[in-house]
Amino acid sequence: MRVGPSGGRGGGSGWAVRAAQTGLSCGVTAGLLLHDTDLQRQLEQGQPLQPLLFTLLVLSSIVLYFVVSLMNPGYVEDDGGDGKDSMTGEEKAKTLFSEAPNIRLRRCGYCMVKQPLRAKHCQACQQCVRRYDHHCPWIENCIGERNHPLFVLYLAVQLAVLLWALQVAWSGLNFRSFSWLWLQCHLLLLLSFLLLLVCTVIATLLLGSHLYLVSCNTTTWEFMSRHRISYLKHCKAENPFDQGVLLNLWRFFCACRLMAWEKLYPPEESELV
Ligand SMILES: [Zn+2]
Ligand SMILES: [Zn+2]
Repeated sequence: MRVGPSGGRGGGSGWAVRAAQTGLSCGVTAGLLLHDTDLQRQLEQGQPLQPLLFTLLVLSSIVLYFVVSLMNPGYVEDDGGDGKDSMTGEEKAKTLFSEAPNIRLRRCGYCMVKQPLRAKHCQACQQCVRRYDHHCPWIENCIGERNHPLFVLYLAVQLAVLLWALQVAWSGLNFRSFSWLWLQCHLLLLLSFLLLLVCTVIATLLLGSHLYLVSCNTTTWEFMSRHRISYLKHCKAENPFDQGVLLNLWRFFCACRLMAWEKLYPPEESELV
């Protein structure tokens, strides 16, 4: 497997971003536990349950972040150049609708692998990614067919952490006693609250948009660039991969298998891909 110079799993910049994310999460959590907030008051009263649960939730979000960041998002394996197929034997064994696709597939102009339908070459990773969604600079990895479900789960856990942290930070800010001295004592907590507020808005928008896209069985790339994607702009159907909200959600979150998307594509339009 090829990993590009700034590839999702290796580069120095990647580890700098991951370290910043981890440092920020741990720093804000420590700040909330050390300031005069609900959590600190509970610790002082000998009630550690909620502070413990909060810390565990933060740790879960960090673990999920690293799993999504370091795992293979669905890089397309080299087919050996024989042009027969776009999947390895292992991928075929794990794929739904795994009969040989009756469709003419493209070969990537950068890494020369045969691209399955919905795959796209990522310039940051320097590899083709199955069911490409987007390259996430915060995750420092592509979001593709393999890690997209965990990415959505990560967003949900992160949003839960942020909402809880917002409530905790707010509990330590009593604006009725506002003065310059108060501001000096609470500046870090106030900045944390504002940072958490911005992150909460972003996480809410991201989670909402990804749940919508998943329920329609489309990707960020397909949604934003339909007019540039040959298998969509020539297709009469609005979305040839949409199987209904329930089946889309079930296959996305529960099937845990790769899909041969070519099998869902209308055969009469296969020549247009
Ligand atoms: Zn490629
Ligand atoms: Zn990428």
